Amino acid sequence: MENPKRVFVCGGGVIGVCTAYFLAKKGAAVTLIEKSDVACAASGKAGGFLAHDWCDGGPMESLARTSFNLHRSLSQQLNGPESYGYRPLTTLSLTITEPNTTTTLPSSSATLPSWVDAPARDIKTIGTFETTAQVHPQLFTKTLINNAVAHHGVKVVIGKLERLEVVGDRVKSVVLEGGRVMESDAVVLAMGPWCNKLELLSSIFRVYGIKAHSIVLEPREANAITPHALFLSYYPSKQGNPLDPEVYPRPTGEVYICGISAEEEVPDDPEGIIGDPESIGMLKRVAKTVSSHLGEGQARVKAEQACFLPCTDDGVPVIGEIPGVKGCYVATGHNCWGILNGPATGAAMAELVIDGHSSIVDLEKFSPARFARKRKA
Ligand SMILES: Cc1cc2nc3c(=O)[nH]c(=O)nc-3n(C[C@H](O)[C@H](O)[C@H](O)COP(=O)(O)OP(=O)(O)OC[C@H]3O[C@@H](n4cnc5c(N)ncnc54)[C@H](O)[C@@H]3O)c2cc1C
Repeated sequence: MENPKRVFVCGGGVIGVCTAYFLAKKGAAVTLIEKSDVACAASGKAGGFLAHDWCDGGPMESLARTSFNLHRSLSQQLNGPESYGYRPLTTLSLTITEPNTTTTLPSSSATLPSWVDAPARDIKTIGTFETTAQVHPQLFTKTLINNAVAHHGVKVVIGKLERLEVVGDRVKSVVLEGGRVMESDAVVLAMGPWCNKLELLSSIFRVYGIKAHSIVLEPREANAITPHALFLSYYPSKQGNPLDPEVYPRPTGEVYICGISAEEEVPDDPEGIIGDPESIGMLKRVAKTVSSHLGEGQARVKAEQACFLPCTDDGVPVIGEIPGVKGCYVATGHNCWGILNGPATGAAMAELVIDGHSSIVDLEKFSPARFARKRKA
């Protein structure tokens, strides 16, 4: 491009980083603005589970299928298995009741890997090497931004976007905390649940945060743990309601376990989010019940953490140009599928900003204009 479009992407999570990467590959002059550190929030603390067809039948079907395939090709280009732990997985669903209640003894199932020695039942294979995979989300996001900086000229600025300057009906510049002003041809807002803190967006739609907890364990006998992701219905011994934690062994030898979530106010500082001790304690109980390899003494606790899922009121991501502000775009609200849908969101957004429309995924149903239309109706 002779005069490349100057695009500012605000937010260094998986959505902003994928957008910056694909925009720069299309020839834009891209600056990524991140308040704290790339992948410091949900994109660094997620599970990294990917599914080809689990969004079928809903509005995200084509986004998810396209993105699953893009993950596969990105992994080939960026040496995903080595750089960020990309690998296909077998995925099981199962029901586990904590011992010392009316415990059901383990079913002898050929499907269950030997490291899962819990009293499990209702064991089903819900994903295969063809349909489910994983990445280490923090390493994925960091690999992509490092590649974009080294090979496609992306600049990273650590700073907090405070506001946008709009002249007439067009975005003119971004203004950072402290007053630094940078002129832009286009701006993409990808600040996850923090998008709600910008009045320009919160006046059109709501992005709220669901706080979810996770732990990362390092089992002594890492080699015993096979690539099986587990989706549990978990019945704690002293509580009636089942929980639905997820267990993801990683090729690094770590085992990631997440669950226990609730809507909560999103704090200003992404780095200041900590898990509540009761929820973390519950995840540790899940770990030791699922496998004797994951109990105290057998596994070191590497991380106890929490982060926020970015959610919209209709459960559908918001990806598109903001009504009434030309050159200003938003990409957020990916809920529990942001790592999966990052690549297709980034590629589609790059097409929209540079070409004026997206051909890789039809973005109509993701448009922020749907909220304005609903309000009018
Ligand atoms: C426990 C858990 C497990 C999950 N597991 C999976 C999974 O297995 N598979 C999957 O597909 N998805 C999963 N997800 C969902 C996924 O993590 C999110 O959908 C995704 O990370 C959202 O990415 P994002 O870029 O929109 O937001 P974030 O990752 O939240 O990034 C937003 C960024 O914006 C920055 N920012 C905020 N305000 C400003 C500002 N004013 N100026 C500049 N920068 C700013 C923040 O510092 C942050 O880095 C999981 C989520 C959780 C919580």
